[in-house]
Amino acid sequence: MKINTDVLVIGGCTAGLYFAGLMAKQGYKVVVADRSSQERIGDRYNIIHIAREHFAFFGLPEPRQGDPEYVAKFERSILRSALNNWPKNTRNSILVLRRTPLIKRIAAWAKEQGAELLYDTAFEKPVFNGEGRLSGAVLRKGGEELLVESRLTADASGIPAVVRTSLPPDYGVETFVTGPRDQFYVVLHYVNLKHPEKDKVEVNTTWTHYKTWFAPQHNSNGAIMGIGANLSFDYAERSFQRFVKKGFLPEYELDHIEQSSTPYRRPPYSFVAHGFIALGDAACLTNPWSGEGVPYAWVLCKAAAGEYGRAMQNGAYPVREAVWQVNTGYIKEQGALFAKNLAMLCGATNCTEKENDYEFKHSIIYEDDDEKGKGNLILKLLWAFITRGLSASSLGNLMSASGIGEKVYKHYLAYPSDPEGLDAWIKKADGLWAQAGSMADLAEKDLASMTGHPMTDHP
Ligand SMILES: Cc1cc2nc3c(=O)[nH]c(=O)nc-3n(C[C@H](O)[C@H](O)[C@H](O)COP(=O)(O)OP(=O)(O)OC[C@H]3O[C@@H](n4cnc5c(N)ncnc54)[C@H](O)[C@@H]3O)c2cc1C
Repeated sequence: MKINTDVLVIGGCTAGLYFAGLMAKQGYKVVVADRSSQERIGDRYNIIHIAREHFAFFGLPEPRQGDPEYVAKFERSILRSALNNWPKNTRNSILVLRRTPLIKRIAAWAKEQGAELLYDTAFEKPVFNGEGRLSGAVLRKGGEELLVESRLTADASGIPAVVRTSLPPDYGVETFVTGPRDQFYVVLHYVNLKHPEKDKVEVNTTWTHYKTWFAPQHNSNGAIMGIGANLSFDYAERSFQRFVKKGFLPEYELDHIEQSSTPYRRPPYSFVAHGFIALGDAACLTNPWSGEGVPYAWVLCKAAAGEYGRAMQNGAYPVREAVWQVNTGYIKEQGALFAKNLAMLCGATNCTEKENDYEFKHSIIYEDDDEKGKGNLILKLLWAFITRGLSASSLGNLMSASGIGEKVYKHYLAYPSDPEGLDAWIKKADGLWAQAGSMADLAEKDLASMTGHPMTDHP
C-alpha cells in the first residue's frame, strides 16, 4: 500500500500528536503512525503531572474535574534538604493526570485539526529520493508493508528515536543512541498510606539530593514515591531503599511498581535536517532538574510548526537551510537555559548530605518563591568558606559548575544563524561538554560503593 502526505509523524504521544495537530491546523496533510494499539497508547506509566498553565499557553484543551484523565490538582511543590529540613516552596497549579486518557484527548484534538492517526503501525526504515534526501518511510501494519511518501518526516518515537538513529551519519542530525548512561531510570512506587488521616499527600515533595519525590496519585489515601537514577532500574531501586531507611516517609504499604525511563543527556546539536525533524524524547528534550518532558517538548513543537508551516508552502520541500530558525528559536527560548542547567548539575549536586542541608539553610541553589532574586551568591559562598559550611572541594565543584554553566549558556546563545557556522560551533561545544562532568560517572561510583564491585559487574 502507498500513502502520499505532506507530513509523516512517527510516534503518536504527547510530542508527535501536538506537532501533528499544529501542522494539520495550517492545512497540511498529516499522518501519524504509532506502533502501539489505540487502546494502550502511552501506557508505559500511569500518573503524570503537568502545570495547568501549559494547556492554555499551547492551545490544548485543559483537563477538568470529571474528565477521564483528571485526577486532582495541587498548588504547591516543596523541595527539602538531604536531612529533611528547610522546605523551599514553589507555588504553581499542577494537574495530576492519567496518561493514557490524556494522550487520547490530545489525539482527539489532533484529529479535529485534520490529522490522520494510524495505530499498530511501526516505522521500519527511511526512504530517500534521487538526491539522497529523506522522502518518507516504510511502515508495517500487521503483516502489510506501507510506503509513505512525505515532504517532512518527524521523529517523535521517544527514546528509541527510530528515524533519527536510522539516518546516515552525515545527514545533518546526530544519530546517537540514548543508552543507559544517558537515561534516567524512574521507579514509581504506588503506595497506600497506613494513616491517611494524618499523612494525606496533597503536595509534591522532592528531596533533590536523593532524586526522590513523594506526590499525590489517583487514590487519595495513597501516594507515589518516585526515584530517578542513571544506569539502571536496579540502581534506582537500591538508591530508593537506601532513602527509605532515613525514615522521612510516613508508614505505607506498597501497592504496585511502575518503571520507565526518560532521556538525560544534551539534545542533538541540530533538530532539523532535509525533510526531517526530531521532537520530544527522540530529541532528548527533558528538563535537566526534574526529568519531565511534556511541556518542554511542546516548546520545540510550537516553534517548529511555525517554521515548517512557512517553509512548506506551495509544495516546497523543507531543506534544512529553510527551517534553521527552528534551532535558533528553540535555543533562545529554552535550549540555552536547559544546556546551562545540565552542564551545572553534576558539579552543583556533588556534595555531602550535611553540605546539601547547609545549601538549603542558606538558600544556595535552592530557593523559596519568596527568596528568588534576593541575596548575593558570591557573598553566600564566601560565608560558606569562612564558616566551613561547605568543604573546599565542594565549593570548588560549585564554582566550576557555575563557571562551566555560564560558558555553555553563552555559547548556546551564540548558536550560528545558518548551517555554515555549525561545525566550528560544535567543536567548541564538544570541548565545553567534556568539561561539564557526567552524572553517570557519579552514579557508577555510588553503585560501586553500594555493592563493593565496579560497574562492569552490574550491566
Ligand atoms: C516514570 C516517568 C514519569 C514521568 N513524569 C512526567 C511528568 O510528571 N511530567 C512530564 O512533563 N514528564 C514526565 N516524564 C517525561 C515524559 O514522560 C516524556 O518526556 C514524554 O512522555 C515524551 O513524550 P514523547 O511523545 O516524546 O515520547 P513517548 O511518550 O515515549 O512516545 C513515543 C511514541 O512513539 C511510539 N513508537 C516508538 N517506536 C516506534 C516505531 N518504531 N514505530 C512507530 N511508533 C513508535 C511509541 O509507541 C510511543 O507511543 C516522565 C517520564 C517517566 C519515565
